[in-house]
Amino acid sequence: MGLIVQKYGGSSVADAGCIMNVAKKIIRAYSKGNKVVVVLSAQGDTTDELIAKAMEISDRPSKRELDMLMSTGEQISIALMAMALEKLGYKAVSLIAGQAGIYTNAVHGSALIKRICADRIFKELDEGKIVIVAGFQGIDDHGDITTLGRGGSDTTAVALAAALNADHCEIYTDVDGVYTADPRIVRNARKLDEVTYDEMLELASLGARVLHNRSVELANNYRVKLVVRSSKNNHKGTLVREAGGMEKTVVKGVTYDTDIARLSVIAVRDIPGVAYKLFKLLADANINVDIILQSIGRDDTKDISFTVSRSQLSESVEVINRNLDYLGAKAVSFTRDIAKVSIVGAGMAAHPGVAATMFGALADEGINIHMISTSEIKISCLISADEVDKAVKAIHDRFNLGEAAS
Ligand code: ASP
Ligand code: MG
Repeated sequence: MGLIVQKYGGSSVADAGCIMNVAKKIIRAYSKGNKVVVVLSAQGDTTDELIAKAMEISDRPSKRELDMLMSTGEQISIALMAMALEKLGYKAVSLIAGQAGIYTNAVHGSALIKRICADRIFKELDEGKIVIVAGFQGIDDHGDITTLGRGGSDTTAVALAAALNADHCEIYTDVDGVYTADPRIVRNARKLDEVTYDEMLELASLGARVLHNRSVELANNYRVKLVVRSSKNNHKGTLVREAGGMEKTVVKGVTYDTDIARLSVIAVRDIPGVAYKLFKLLADANINVDIILQSIGRDDTKDISFTVSRSQLSESVEVINRNLDYLGAKAVSFTRDIAKVSIVGAGMAAHPGVAATMFGALADEGINIHMISTSEIKISCLISADEVDKAVKAIHDRFNLGEAAS
Protein backbone atom coordinates (compact mmCIF):
# COMPACT_ATOMS: atom_id res chain seq x y z
CA MET A 1 0.00 0.00 0.00
CA GLY A 2 1.29 3.42 -0.92
CA LEU A 3 0.63 6.62 -2.76
CA ILE A 4 0.88 6.53 -6.52
CA VAL A 5 0.63 9.32 -9.06
CA GLN A 6 -0.50 8.21 -12.51
CA LYS A 7 -0.49 10.44 -15.57
CA TYR A 8 -2.38 9.67 -18.76
CA GLY A 9 -1.64 11.52 -21.98
CA GLY A 10 -4.13 12.88 -24.48
CA SER A 11 -4.23 9.77 -26.68
CA SER A 12 -5.01 7.60 -23.63
CA VAL A 13 -8.19 9.58 -22.86
CA ALA A 14 -9.16 10.49 -26.43
CA ASP A 15 -12.75 9.22 -26.28
CA ALA A 16 -15.31 7.62 -23.96
CA GLY A 17 -13.97 4.12 -24.64
CA CYS A 18 -10.42 5.16 -23.76
CA ILE A 19 -11.66 6.89 -20.62
CA MET A 20 -13.49 3.79 -19.39
CA ASN A 21 -10.40 1.70 -20.13
CA VAL A 22 -8.17 4.08 -18.14
CA ALA A 23 -10.74 4.21 -15.32
CA LYS A 24 -10.34 0.44 -14.95
CA LYS A 25 -6.56 0.79 -14.78
CA ILE A 26 -6.92 3.41 -12.06
CA ILE A 27 -9.28 1.16 -10.13
CA ARG A 28 -6.79 -1.69 -10.32
CA ALA A 29 -4.15 0.43 -8.59
CA TYR A 30 -6.67 1.73 -6.05
CA SER A 31 -8.00 -1.75 -5.27
CA LYS A 32 -4.53 -2.87 -4.24
CA GLY A 33 -4.91 -0.48 -1.31
CA ASN A 34 -3.03 2.45 -2.81
CA LYS A 35 -3.98 6.08 -2.59
CA VAL A 36 -4.16 7.21 -6.19
CA VAL A 37 -3.76 10.68 -7.67
CA VAL A 38 -4.33 10.86 -11.41
CA VAL A 39 -3.13 13.64 -13.71
CA LEU A 40 -4.76 13.95 -17.12
CA SER A 41 -3.98 15.74 -20.37
CA ALA A 42 -6.59 17.13 -22.71
CA GLN A 43 -8.33 14.58 -24.93
CA GLY A 44 -6.61 13.80 -28.25
CA ASP A 45 -5.88 16.97 -30.22
CA THR A 46 -8.04 19.21 -28.04
CA THR A 47 -5.24 21.62 -27.13
CA ASP A 48 -4.37 22.14 -30.81
CA GLU A 49 -8.04 22.68 -31.61
CA LEU A 50 -8.38 25.25 -28.84
CA ILE A 51 -5.36 27.13 -30.16
CA ALA A 52 -6.87 27.03 -33.65
CA LYS A 53 -10.08 28.55 -32.26
CA ALA A 54 -8.08 31.38 -30.74
CA MET A 55 -6.30 31.97 -34.05
CA GLU A 56 -9.67 32.40 -35.79
CA ILE A 57 -10.23 35.41 -33.58
CA SER A 58 -6.73 36.87 -33.40
CA ASP A 59 -3.27 35.82 -34.49
CA ARG A 60 -1.85 37.43 -31.37
CA PRO A 61 -4.26 36.70 -28.53
CA SER A 62 -3.22 37.82 -25.07
CA LYS A 63 -1.30 35.11 -23.29
CA ARG A 64 -3.54 35.31 -20.26
CA GLU A 65 -6.64 34.60 -22.32
CA LEU A 66 -4.88 31.88 -24.31
CA ASP A 67 -4.09 30.12 -21.02
CA MET A 68 -7.68 30.58 -19.91
CA LEU A 69 -8.77 28.86 -23.11
CA MET A 70 -6.12 26.12 -23.34
CA SER A 71 -6.61 25.03 -19.74
CA THR A 72 -10.20 24.03 -20.47
CA GLY A 73 -9.06 20.93 -22.37
CA GLU A 74 -7.77 19.29 -19.21
CA GLN A 75 -10.85 20.37 -17.27
CA ILE A 76 -13.00 18.32 -19.66
CA SER A 77 -10.83 15.21 -19.22
CA ILE A 78 -10.82 15.26 -15.43
CA ALA A 79 -14.59 15.76 -15.13
CA LEU A 80 -15.25 12.88 -17.53
CA MET A 81 -12.81 10.62 -15.69
CA ALA A 82 -14.38 11.35 -12.30
CA MET A 83 -17.78 10.52 -13.83
CA ALA A 84 -16.40 7.26 -15.24
CA LEU A 85 -15.01 6.23 -11.84
CA GLU A 86 -18.27 7.10 -10.10
CA LYS A 87 -20.20 5.10 -12.67
CA LEU A 88 -18.00 2.08 -11.89
CA GLY A 89 -18.84 2.49 -8.22
CA TYR A 90 -15.78 4.37 -6.91
CA LYS A 91 -15.55 7.70 -5.13
CA ALA A 92 -13.61 10.28 -7.14
CA VAL A 93 -13.18 14.02 -7.33
CA SER A 94 -11.78 16.17 -10.12
CA LEU A 95 -9.68 19.23 -9.27
CA ILE A 96 -8.39 22.02 -11.49
CA ALA A 97 -5.05 23.58 -10.54
CA GLY A 98 -6.49 26.29 -8.31
CA GLN A 99 -8.36 23.65 -6.32
CA ALA A 100 -5.41 21.28 -6.21
CA GLY A 101 -3.12 24.08 -4.94
CA ILE A 102 -0.64 24.12 -7.84
CA TYR A 103 0.89 27.60 -7.70
CA THR A 104 3.07 28.95 -10.51
CA ASN A 105 4.72 32.21 -11.45
CA ALA A 106 2.79 34.49 -13.80
CA VAL A 107 4.62 33.63 -17.04
CA HIS A 108 1.63 32.67 -19.16
CA GLY A 109 2.32 29.90 -21.63
CA SER A 110 5.43 28.61 -19.87
CA ALA A 111 4.79 29.06 -16.18
CA LEU A 112 7.02 27.44 -13.57
CA ILE A 113 5.55 25.65 -10.57
CA LYS A 114 6.55 27.51 -7.40
CA ARG A 115 4.84 25.48 -4.72
CA ILE A 116 2.08 22.96 -4.21
CA CYS A 117 -0.29 23.27 -1.26
CA ALA A 118 -1.58 19.74 -1.12
CA ASP A 119 -4.03 20.04 1.81
CA ARG A 120 -7.09 19.62 -0.36
CA ILE A 121 -5.64 16.61 -2.17
CA PHE A 122 -4.70 14.93 1.11
CA LYS A 123 -8.15 15.62 2.54
CA GLU A 124 -9.85 14.00 -0.46
CA LEU A 125 -7.48 11.02 -0.35
CA ASP A 126 -8.19 10.56 3.35
CA GLU A 127 -11.87 10.37 2.52
CA GLY A 128 -11.08 7.41 0.30
CA LYS A 129 -11.47 9.26 -2.98
CA ILE A 130 -9.47 8.88 -6.14
CA VAL A 131 -8.22 12.38 -6.93
CA ILE A 132 -8.14 13.48 -10.59
CA VAL A 133 -6.04 16.59 -11.24
CA ALA A 134 -5.89 18.70 -14.41
CA GLY A 135 -2.41 18.56 -15.92
CA PHE A 136 -0.57 21.37 -17.72
CA GLN A 137 -2.13 24.19 -15.67
CA GLY A 138 -1.43 26.22 -12.58
CA ILE A 139 -2.66 29.29 -10.80
CA ASP A 140 -0.57 32.41 -10.14
CA ASP A 141 -0.61 34.66 -7.10
CA HIS A 142 -3.32 36.83 -8.67
CA GLY A 143 -5.55 33.80 -9.03
CA ASP A 144 -5.12 33.75 -12.81
CA ILE A 145 -4.87 30.46 -14.68
CA THR A 146 -1.47 29.71 -16.23
CA THR A 147 -0.16 26.86 -18.38
CA LEU A 148 3.22 25.14 -18.14
CA GLY A 149 4.06 24.84 -21.84
CA ARG A 150 3.06 22.19 -24.38
CA GLY A 151 3.35 18.67 -23.03
CA GLY A 152 3.35 20.07 -19.49
CA SER A 153 1.11 17.45 -17.90
CA ASP A 154 4.14 15.23 -17.30
CA THR A 155 5.60 18.05 -15.24
CA THR A 156 2.37 18.40 -13.25
CA ALA A 157 2.50 14.69 -12.46
CA VAL A 158 6.11 14.68 -11.31
CA ALA A 159 5.68 17.86 -9.28
CA LEU A 160 2.68 16.31 -7.53
CA ALA A 161 4.58 13.07 -6.93
CA ALA A 162 7.37 15.09 -5.31
CA ALA A 163 5.02 17.26 -3.23
CA LEU A 164 2.92 14.30 -2.06
CA ASN A 165 6.02 12.20 -1.47
CA ALA A 166 4.55 9.49 -3.67
CA ASP A 167 6.13 6.06 -3.94
CA HIS A 168 6.39 6.50 -7.66
CA CYS A 169 4.98 8.30 -10.65
CA GLU A 170 3.64 6.30 -13.59
CA ILE A 171 3.48 8.05 -16.95
CA TYR A 172 1.05 6.28 -19.27
CA THR A 173 1.40 6.96 -22.96
CA ASP A 174 0.80 5.28 -26.31
CA VAL A 175 4.20 3.56 -26.52
CA ASP A 176 5.54 0.74 -24.33
CA GLY A 177 8.36 2.83 -22.89
CA VAL A 178 11.66 4.34 -23.92
CA TYR A 179 13.34 2.69 -26.92
CA THR A 180 16.88 2.39 -28.24
CA ALA A 181 15.64 4.33 -31.30
CA ASP A 182 12.39 5.52 -32.85
CA PRO A 183 10.59 2.23 -33.65
CA ARG A 184 9.01 3.88 -36.70
CA ILE A 185 12.49 4.16 -38.23
CA VAL A 186 14.32 1.20 -36.75
CA ARG A 187 12.31 -2.02 -36.93
CA ASN A 188 14.28 -3.92 -34.31
CA ALA A 189 14.47 -1.05 -31.82
CA ARG A 190 14.41 -2.45 -28.31
CA LYS A 191 12.49 -1.20 -25.31
CA LEU A 192 14.81 -0.29 -22.44
CA ASP A 193 14.02 -1.61 -18.95
CA GLU A 194 15.87 1.18 -17.18
CA VAL A 195 17.46 4.53 -17.99
CA THR A 196 19.09 7.07 -15.70
CA TYR A 197 17.66 10.56 -15.22
CA ASP A 198 20.61 12.00 -17.11
CA GLU A 199 20.12 9.67 -20.03
CA MET A 200 16.39 10.37 -20.09
CA LEU A 201 17.05 14.11 -20.03
CA GLU A 202 19.27 13.82 -23.07
CA LEU A 203 16.82 11.49 -24.78
CA ALA A 204 13.91 13.84 -24.03
CA SER A 205 15.64 16.98 -25.21
CA LEU A 206 17.23 15.28 -28.21
CA GLY A 207 13.89 14.55 -29.72
CA ALA A 208 12.74 11.24 -28.18
CA ARG A 209 9.56 13.08 -27.16
CA VAL A 210 8.36 10.50 -24.64
CA LEU A 211 8.56 12.84 -21.66
CA HIS A 212 8.52 16.59 -21.22
CA ASN A 213 12.13 17.39 -20.31
CA ARG A 214 11.20 19.68 -17.44
CA SER A 215 9.47 16.69 -15.84
CA VAL A 216 12.67 14.66 -16.00
CA GLU A 217 14.70 17.48 -14.45
CA LEU A 218 12.18 17.71 -11.66
CA ALA A 219 12.16 13.94 -11.14
CA ASN A 220 15.95 14.04 -10.93
CA ASN A 221 15.98 16.89 -8.41
CA TYR A 222 13.43 15.26 -6.13
CA ARG A 223 14.44 11.65 -6.86
CA VAL A 224 10.95 10.76 -8.01
CA LYS A 225 10.90 7.23 -9.39
CA LEU A 226 9.35 7.45 -12.83
CA VAL A 227 7.86 4.64 -14.85
CA VAL A 228 6.96 5.18 -18.51
CA ARG A 229 4.52 2.60 -19.87
CA SER A 230 1.62 2.06 -22.24
CA SER A 231 -2.00 2.67 -21.29
CA LYS A 232 -3.07 0.09 -23.88
CA ASN A 233 -1.42 -3.02 -22.39
CA ASN A 234 0.15 -4.33 -19.19
CA HIS A 235 3.78 -4.42 -20.31
CA LYS A 236 6.37 -3.43 -17.78
CA GLY A 237 7.54 -0.13 -19.28
CA THR A 238 10.79 1.73 -18.65
CA LEU A 239 11.98 2.77 -15.21
CA VAL A 240 13.74 6.15 -14.97
CA ARG A 241 15.90 6.48 -11.88
CA GLU A 242 19.29 7.47 -10.48
CA ALA A 243 22.42 5.77 -11.78
CA GLY A 244 23.46 4.06 -8.55
CA GLY A 245 23.60 0.28 -8.88
CA MET A 246 22.69 0.33 -12.52
CA GLU A 247 25.30 -0.89 -14.92
CA LYS A 248 26.33 2.00 -17.09
CA THR A 249 25.67 1.04 -20.67
CA VAL A 250 28.04 2.64 -23.11
CA VAL A 251 25.37 3.61 -25.62
CA LYS A 252 21.71 3.42 -24.63
CA GLY A 253 20.01 4.81 -27.67
CA VAL A 254 20.08 6.81 -30.89
CA THR A 255 17.88 9.86 -31.21
CA TYR A 256 17.30 12.48 -33.85
CA ASP A 257 15.84 15.92 -34.10
CA THR A 258 14.65 17.45 -37.36
CA ASP A 259 13.23 20.58 -35.78
CA ILE A 260 16.43 22.53 -36.19
CA ALA A 261 17.99 25.09 -38.50
CA ARG A 262 21.58 26.24 -38.86
CA LEU A 263 22.76 29.82 -39.14
CA SER A 264 26.21 31.05 -40.02
CA VAL A 265 27.40 34.55 -39.26
CA ILE A 266 30.01 35.21 -41.89
CA ALA A 267 33.29 37.06 -41.50
CA VAL A 268 32.93 38.51 -38.03
CA ARG A 269 35.97 40.35 -36.71
CA ASP A 270 38.34 38.05 -34.84
CA ILE A 271 38.53 40.07 -31.62
CA PRO A 272 37.44 39.40 -28.02
CA GLY A 273 33.77 39.95 -27.20
CA VAL A 274 32.23 39.14 -30.57
CA ALA A 275 30.72 35.80 -29.52
CA TYR A 276 29.46 37.48 -26.37
CA LYS A 277 27.74 40.22 -28.37
CA LEU A 278 26.14 37.74 -30.76
CA PHE A 279 24.80 35.31 -28.20
CA LYS A 280 23.72 38.09 -25.84
CA LEU A 281 21.58 39.53 -28.63
CA LEU A 282 20.00 36.13 -29.19
CA ALA A 283 19.50 35.50 -25.49
CA ASP A 284 17.82 38.87 -25.08
CA ALA A 285 15.43 37.86 -27.86
CA ASN A 286 14.71 34.62 -25.92
CA ILE A 287 16.24 32.50 -28.67
CA ASN A 288 17.56 29.14 -27.56
CA VAL A 289 20.86 28.25 -29.19
CA ASP A 290 22.04 24.66 -29.38
CA ILE A 291 25.23 23.52 -31.11
CA ILE A 292 27.83 26.26 -31.69
CA LEU A 293 30.84 26.05 -33.94
CA GLN A 294 33.43 28.75 -34.48
CA SER A 295 35.73 28.37 -37.46
CA ILE A 296 39.45 28.98 -37.27
CA GLY A 297 39.93 32.49 -38.57
CA ARG A 298 41.30 33.57 -41.91
CA ASP A 299 42.89 37.03 -42.14
CA ASP A 300 41.32 38.75 -39.16
CA THR A 301 37.83 37.31 -39.49
CA LYS A 302 36.07 34.07 -38.57
CA ASP A 303 32.63 32.48 -39.04
CA ILE A 304 30.33 31.47 -36.21
CA SER A 305 27.70 28.81 -36.91
CA PHE A 306 25.00 27.60 -34.57
CA THR A 307 21.63 25.88 -34.54
CA VAL A 308 18.21 26.99 -33.31
CA SER A 309 14.76 25.40 -33.50
CA ARG A 310 13.04 26.01 -36.85
CA SER A 311 10.36 28.14 -35.25
CA GLN A 312 13.03 30.59 -34.10
CA LEU A 313 14.94 30.75 -37.38
CA SER A 314 13.37 33.82 -38.96
CA GLU A 315 13.56 35.79 -35.74
CA SER A 316 17.23 34.83 -35.34
CA VAL A 317 18.03 35.94 -38.88
CA GLU A 318 16.22 39.24 -38.30
CA VAL A 319 18.05 39.93 -35.05
CA ILE A 320 21.43 39.31 -36.67
CA ASN A 321 20.67 41.25 -39.85
CA ARG A 322 19.65 44.25 -37.78
CA ASN A 323 22.97 44.08 -35.94
CA LEU A 324 25.50 43.26 -38.68
CA ASP A 325 27.37 46.53 -38.15
CA TYR A 326 27.35 46.17 -34.38
CA LEU A 327 28.77 42.65 -34.73
CA GLY A 328 31.21 43.72 -37.42
CA ALA A 329 29.96 40.85 -39.57
CA LYS A 330 29.48 40.62 -43.33
CA ALA A 331 26.36 38.51 -43.64
CA VAL A 332 24.24 35.76 -42.18
CA SER A 333 23.33 32.60 -44.07
CA PHE A 334 21.04 29.79 -42.99
CA THR A 335 19.62 26.40 -43.92
CA ARG A 336 16.68 24.31 -42.83
CA ASP A 337 18.03 21.24 -44.56
CA ILE A 338 19.69 20.00 -41.44
CA ALA A 339 19.04 17.46 -38.68
CA LYS A 340 20.77 16.21 -35.57
CA VAL A 341 21.46 12.56 -34.78
CA SER A 342 22.80 11.70 -31.35
CA ILE A 343 23.89 8.76 -29.27
CA VAL A 344 23.26 8.78 -25.53
CA GLY A 345 24.73 6.69 -22.74
CA ALA A 346 25.96 7.30 -19.21
CA GLY A 347 28.94 4.98 -19.68
CA MET A 348 30.28 6.78 -22.73
CA ALA A 349 32.81 8.98 -20.97
CA ALA A 350 34.68 5.92 -19.68
CA HIS A 351 34.94 4.16 -23.04
CA PRO A 352 37.30 5.25 -25.78
CA GLY A 353 36.34 4.84 -29.41
CA VAL A 354 32.63 5.52 -29.12
CA ALA A 355 32.81 8.63 -31.28
CA ALA A 356 34.92 6.85 -33.87
CA THR A 357 32.36 4.05 -34.07
CA MET A 358 29.55 6.52 -34.63
CA PHE A 359 31.47 8.48 -37.27
CA GLY A 360 32.45 5.21 -38.94
CA ALA A 361 28.80 4.17 -39.26
CA LEU A 362 28.01 7.51 -40.91
CA ALA A 363 31.06 7.39 -43.17
CA ASP A 364 30.17 3.91 -44.47
CA GLU A 365 26.78 5.28 -45.52
CA GLY A 366 28.44 8.23 -47.25
CA ILE A 367 26.80 10.67 -44.84
CA ASN A 368 28.63 13.95 -44.40
CA ILE A 369 28.91 15.44 -40.90
CA HIS A 370 28.47 19.23 -40.76
CA MET A 371 28.98 19.86 -37.06
CA ILE A 372 29.75 17.75 -34.00
CA SER A 373 29.09 18.35 -30.35
CA THR A 374 29.82 16.15 -27.36
CA SER A 375 29.11 15.98 -23.65
CA GLU A 376 29.79 13.41 -20.93
CA ILE A 377 26.87 11.28 -22.02
CA LYS A 378 26.10 12.17 -25.63
CA ILE A 379 27.58 12.78 -29.05
CA SER A 380 25.58 14.71 -31.64
CA CYS A 381 26.24 15.16 -35.35
CA LEU A 382 24.54 17.54 -37.72
CA ILE A 383 23.74 15.97 -41.06
CA SER A 384 21.43 16.65 -44.00
CA ALA A 385 17.78 16.28 -43.06
CA ASP A 386 17.08 13.76 -45.82
CA GLU A 387 19.69 11.35 -44.43
CA VAL A 388 18.24 11.04 -40.94
CA ASP A 389 16.55 7.65 -41.30
CA LYS A 390 19.62 6.12 -42.91
CA ALA A 391 21.86 7.56 -40.21
CA VAL A 392 19.75 6.41 -37.28
CA LYS A 393 19.54 2.86 -38.69
CA ALA A 394 23.26 2.67 -39.43
CA ILE A 395 24.31 3.88 -35.97
CA HIS A 396 21.76 1.65 -34.21
CA ASP A 397 23.13 -1.35 -36.14
CA ARG A 398 26.76 -0.48 -35.58
CA PHE A 399 26.31 -0.39 -31.80
CA ASN A 400 24.20 -3.57 -31.87
CA LEU A 401 21.39 -1.90 -29.95
CA GLY A 402 18.52 -3.81 -31.52
CA GLU A 403 16.54 -6.86 -30.56
CA ALA A 404 18.44 -9.92 -31.76
CA ALA A 405 16.88 -11.20 -34.99
CA SER A 406 14.83 -14.34 -34.37
N1 ASP B 1 -2.65 19.24 -23.38
C1 ASP B 1 -1.39 19.87 -23.30
C2 ASP B 1 -0.66 19.77 -24.63
O1 ASP B 1 -1.08 19.11 -25.53
C3 ASP B 1 -0.54 19.33 -22.20
C4 ASP B 1 -0.13 17.89 -22.35
O2 ASP B 1 -0.64 17.16 -23.19
O3 ASP B 1 0.73 17.46 -21.59
O4 ASP B 1 0.37 20.35 -24.79
MG1 MG C 1 -1.74 16.89 -25.38
